[in-house]
Amino acid sequence: MRTGRRAVARGARAAAARGTRTADRAAELERLAEEIRACRRCPLGSSREHAVVYRGSSTPSIVFVGEAPGAAEDRAGVPFVGRAGRQLDAALARLGLGSAEFGVLNVLKCRPPGNRFDPAAARTCRPYLDRQLALLRPRLLVPLGAKALAALVPDAPPILQCAGAPRLGPLGPVFPLVHPAAALRSRRLKERWDSDVAALRRWLARPPLQML
Ligand code: SF4
Repeated sequence: MRTGRRAVARGARAAAARGTRTADRAAELERLAEEIRACRRCPLGSSREHAVVYRGSSTPSIVFVGEAPGAAEDRAGVPFVGRAGRQLDAALARLGLGSAEFGVLNVLKCRPPGNRFDPAAARTCRPYLDRQLALLRPRLLVPLGAKALAALVPDAPPILQCAGAPRLGPLGPVFPLVHPAAALRSRRLKERWDSDVAALRRWLARPPLQML
C-alpha cells in the first residue's frame, strides 16, 4: 500500500513538473511573441499592420511552416486565417489532429508588400524562427511550399519533387507539402495537395519506429 502511495506521489510530482515545464514554455513563447510584435529590424516592420507570430499548441507534435503572412493574416495578426488557412484547416481535420497536437507559423513574421517573399528580410527574421522551433520542439516539421522548404532544408530538391514524402532535414524529420494557396489556384495542384495530405495521414498512422 505504501509503495502504491509512493508511486502515486511520484506520479503526481512528475505530472506537476511536466505542468510547470509546459507553463514555462508557454510563458517563454509569449515573451518571444511580444518581442516579435515590437520588432522593427527590417523594413517590413514599418509596412505591416500586425506581426504574425504563431497559432496552436505550446507543446505541438507537428509544426506547419508557411513562408509569409498574406493580407488576411496581416489584418488579423494570426497565421493562415484566409482562404489558404481554410484549406490548411480542412487538411488538419483530415489528418485528425487535435488542437493540442499542432502549431502553425511562418518563416517571415511580417507581410511583404505585394506578397513578394523578401529573402533579405527572411535572413534578418530567421533567428525568430529558430527560437520558436527551439521552444516548441516538434517531432515533425511540415514546410508548406518552396520558400518554407528552402528555409528548413536548404539542399532539398524542388518542392514538386519532394512534396508528399518524408525526409530527414537538419532540424529533424520533415514532410513537405505544396503551399495551400497554390492548391487554390490550380486544379492540378489541388489534386497534388489532396494526395500529399493523404500520404501524410498514412505516414502518421505508422508505428513510430518505421517513421523514417
Ligand atoms: S519581418 Fe521579422 S525582422 Fe522584419 S520587422 Fe518583422 S519580425 Fe522583425
